[in-house]
Order: sequence, then C-alpha cells, then structure tokens
Amino acid sequence: MPDETPAPTPTTETRYKGLAVSPGIVWGPAVLLYADEHIVRKRRIRPEDVSNELTRFEAALLKTRQQITAIRNQMAESIGESDASIFDAHILSLEDSSLIESVKEQVFSRLVNVDFAYEQVVRVYTRKMRELDDDYFRERAADFADVSRRVLRNLQGKAEFELQGMDAPSIVLAHDLSPSDTAGFDRKLVLGIVTEAGSRTSHSAIMARSLNLPAVVGIKGLGRIEPGVEVLVDGYEGLFIIAPSEQTKADYGAREHEHDVVEAKLDELRETLPVTVDQRRITVAGNVELVEDLPLLIEHGAEGIGLVRTEYLFLSEDEFPSEDAQAEIYAQLAQASKPHAVIIRTLDVGGDKKRPHLGIDQEINPFLGFRGIRYSMGRPDLFRTQLRAICRANTDGNVKVMFPMVSDVNEVKFACGMLQEVRAELVAEGVAQPETMDCGVMIEVPSAALIADVLARHVKFFSIGSNDLIQYTLAIDRGNEKVSAMYQPAHPAVVRLLKNVVDAAHASGIWVGVCGEMASDVVLMPMLVGLGIDELSAIPNAIPRIKRAIQALNYEEAKELVGRFVQSETAEANQQELEAIAGRLYPEIL
Ligand code: PEP
Ligand code: MG
Repeated sequence: MPDETPAPTPTTETRYKGLAVSPGIVWGPAVLLYADEHIVRKRRIRPEDVSNELTRFEAALLKTRQQITAIRNQMAESIGESDASIFDAHILSLEDSSLIESVKEQVFSRLVNVDFAYEQVVRVYTRKMRELDDDYFRERAADFADVSRRVLRNLQGKAEFELQGMDAPSIVLAHDLSPSDTAGFDRKLVLGIVTEAGSRTSHSAIMARSLNLPAVVGIKGLGRIEPGVEVLVDGYEGLFIIAPSEQTKADYGAREHEHDVVEAKLDELRETLPVTVDQRRITVAGNVELVEDLPLLIEHGAEGIGLVRTEYLFLSEDEFPSEDAQAEIYAQLAQASKPHAVIIRTLDVGGDKKRPHLGIDQEINPFLGFRGIRYSMGRPDLFRTQLRAICRANTDGNVKVMFPMVSDVNEVKFACGMLQEVRAELVAEGVAQPETMDCGVMIEVPSAALIADVLARHVKFFSIGSNDLIQYTLAIDRGNEKVSAMYQPAHPAVVRLLKNVVDAAHASGIWVGVCGEMASDVVLMPMLVGLGIDELSAIPNAIPRIKRAIQALNYEEAKELVGRFVQSETAEANQQELEAIAGRLYPEIL
C-alpha cells in the first residue's frame, strides 16, 4: 500500500493504511479542513522569485476579499445587516496596510515564501493583540486569525472549506483536528474523520470515539486530495480508501452487518454486572464530553459517569458559559446518572485545548504549561463560578468533583478549600447542599502518582488519567503519530506507578478509578483488574466489551500477572502476555 496520497487524486480504488482510532465503517464525499498553521512550511526563494511571490499574495488577498464579501452579502440577506457587519471587521483585518507591508518586507529581506512570511507576521500581530488587556483587541486578534486561515488556504490553492457551511454529510480530512474544531462539528454532517497527525489518545481521536464517528489517523498527504471525491474510512482496520469500487462497498456493507450482530450479542450484557469469576465487583461507568453523549451512555448500561470533560463547554463557544448555563448542564448530567454518581472534572484547558477567549499565550511546551488545575488557580474567578455551578447541580447528592493535572498537594488543598468555601456560600444564600460532597484528584502526572499516599489523605477518590500519565512517564507526546508506537500502556514503569497509586489509595481507604483511554481497551483488562482498580470509566460503546472481559477474568490470577509485570523488563513482553490472555478468554470482542 502506498504511504502517501498523491496529486492528482487517484480515480480508481487506492488503499492507504493508518492507525484505527475509532471503530466503524463509512463512506462519502471528502471535505478538507486545512486551516492549520502547521502545514505552512518555510521555503527559501531566489531574489528573482520575489515579484512572483508578491503577485501570489495580491491574488490571494483579492480572492479572500471576494469570498468574505460573498459571505457577508449572504448573511445580510438571511440574518440581517447588523450581524453581517462582523465580516466588515474581517475585511478591515484583511486589508490592514501595515500587516501587508510587513509581509512584503519579510519576503523581500529574508527571501522566504510568502505563505511562511504571512503566517509569521500574523502570529506576531495576534499575539501582541491578545496580550493587551482589552476585549476589543482580543476580538480583533480573533478576526485576524480567522481571516489569515482563509488567506493561507487561498495562497496554497486549497479548496475553501467551512464546516458550518457544509451542506451534505461528508468525511472530514485534516492535518489534525483541535478539540475546538471537533467541538464545533455538526454531528449530522460529519460522517467520519481522517487525519495525518494524531494517535489513539489524541483529543481528536477521543472526541471521534465519543461522537461515535469512524476515524483513522496517520494518513499522509491528505491535503492533496480533491474535495468531493468519494472516500471510505475503515475504523476497525485503520484503512483509508480513495474511490472505493462498488464491490468494496458491498463487501464493507456485509462486514458492517457482522459487526452489528456482535454488538447485538454484547447488548444482551447490558443488565449483567461486571464481576470477575472469583466475584470481584468493578464499577463500569462512562466518559462524557457533551450532554449529547448521554443517550449512548444510558443505552450501553453505564453505571453513572466517571468523567465529564467540562472543557468542551468552554471550547465550543467563544465566551465563557455563565454560572446558570453551566449549572443547567451539570444538573442534566446528574439527573441522567441517577441512581449512580457523576464525577464532574473541573476545567482542563491548556495543552491542545485552547481558544482565544481563554487567554492562554503561545507556549513552547503547552503540555507542561498553563493547563488543568494550574489554569483554574490562575483564574480563581472562573474556578469559583464553575464550582458554584457544580454544587448547585448537586441537589440529590450524587455529584462528585475532581481536579485535573494535579502535581502537588498544595493544589489539592487550594481546590478543596475553594470547594468548601463555595458550598458554605451557597448554603448562606439558601441553596441547600448535601452534608458532604466527595472530591477527588486525577492522577495523571508522575509526581502525583509518586506522592499518592500524601494526596490520599486529602481526597475521597483517585481517577487515573492514563492518557497523560503515560505521556509524562514515558516522555511520549500522546498526539504525535511519529512516536505513537512507543506509547506503551503496559510499560513496566507505567505498571509500577499504577501499582503505587492503587496500593496507596487502598491503604488510605479510598477508591481508585481509571478514566483515560486505558479503561476502554479490553486487551489491558487483565492488568487493570489485577492492579485492583475499583472503577473503569470508558467511552460508551466500549462498555459492553469491558463487562464481557471482566466477567471472563479471575482477580487472583490477574494479581499474579501484575506481580510479574512489575518485574518484567519490557513493555513488549507484558503486551504480548495481555494479548494472549485476551485471545484465549474473550476472542470474540477483540
Ligand atoms: C487522561 O489524561 O487520561 C484524561 C482522562 O484526561 P484527558 O484525556 O482529557 O487529558
Ligand atoms: Mg488528562
């Protein structure tokens, strides 16, 4: 199989192999979401090419102006002149003469391609504007960023692509998708996702699974594909097929049917309990990104919600949701979880989860930067509002709260302290609060795992964020397809840390869950069961499989397995043993 799509796009069936990150099969027309800065490459040019580059620039500016004007006029007709005026601001940003002059000057003096020069200049401009503590300039920065994507697309000859304007169900192709891209998807229109970058635990993959969209990552050269051509995504085998033949589609139709038969059998497990053969009971809950995930969760028999990624509420809009808006959503989640619990995680922005209104600067190492609880501590106003909304939703006492990216006990003291203050404040305002409210921490930073005994004194539960814990322990970027093979959940170092966390928690009498993607991987079940994990919180459609795996396992035997894993030399040896056990005990769900 070729490993990179060519230009022009093949007209006969051509297959590419990537990494399957979200199951399912789908085919339809391709749309390209190529707004990303990371595909702008620096190219040296010769002095005699300068005028050519500048002509390309003028042409792209003109084309962008025409596109924006057309959208503006369309908007004015459909929703009115005043709302359409935001596009006037876009045109002003487009025609900003000092920006245009700076770009030309860069091309001329540094002899670089104009796309690169433009992208660099816009980046500096928008950063400076965001740094000014002024809403007006922040909005202007957002205008510049928006317009610049369009200019870059035009400079690079890419088809225009507006997710909002997509009018037929399609398969989205992109270099990568940020959580805010996916949060903005219209689920009726997006059939599947294929990206060049990413891995199983990148946020775009997690989102695809939670939206139940087949997805494949790691396919190179997607930007060269002709928009509108028919493509097929096989999210089981990680295949991406351009121009699938009628025969291929018929074969895939039959395969989908086989999968449906297995799913229907698994659905029969809905009412059964996740108990090992030697009677160890494990709770199996579900993860939720948005309220729309609830029906799927209930359908698959989740025992409540083990993780609400509340940041998606903050990423899907350009402004902070109010306390009332948040409280309403959290209350819906609490009601839907009854009689079980819902664990609401406070805002975990930063890293790759960013939007201009969050005010997070460009960082050299965003995953080591201003994220998770660090952001909440830096914005106590937002944190307080969120905690108030969470507590207000706790009318029936089944809401628990947890804090992300904790690396130190002082963060826990701060967060739990503010929670108590907020509860007291609400009681004083006449908003009844249950006597106690459990608060917990995510264990996703190695330092937290190593001081688990200390942290356990301050909270009622731990929830292991394996996606980040593995990334930080093994120094493997969870979203980088180039190193994804080294992202090894059964690495002896990871097993040792996990064991430390579980033992410390149990010694203090608190329970431990896993809410990272590890909990959705049935191959890892013998290890998680053997570690003594009390709760697994998984993506909804993995829940029946997890129950099936737990019911096939023996806790005492699994404990011995973990004893061996801790001493083992390599991740590969552990992984092979896990695969052998899964293949022997529950081959039908692999
Ligand atoms: C994790 O890190 O495992 C986790 C659940 O958090 P997120 O994937 O949202 O970073
Ligand atoms: Mg995390």
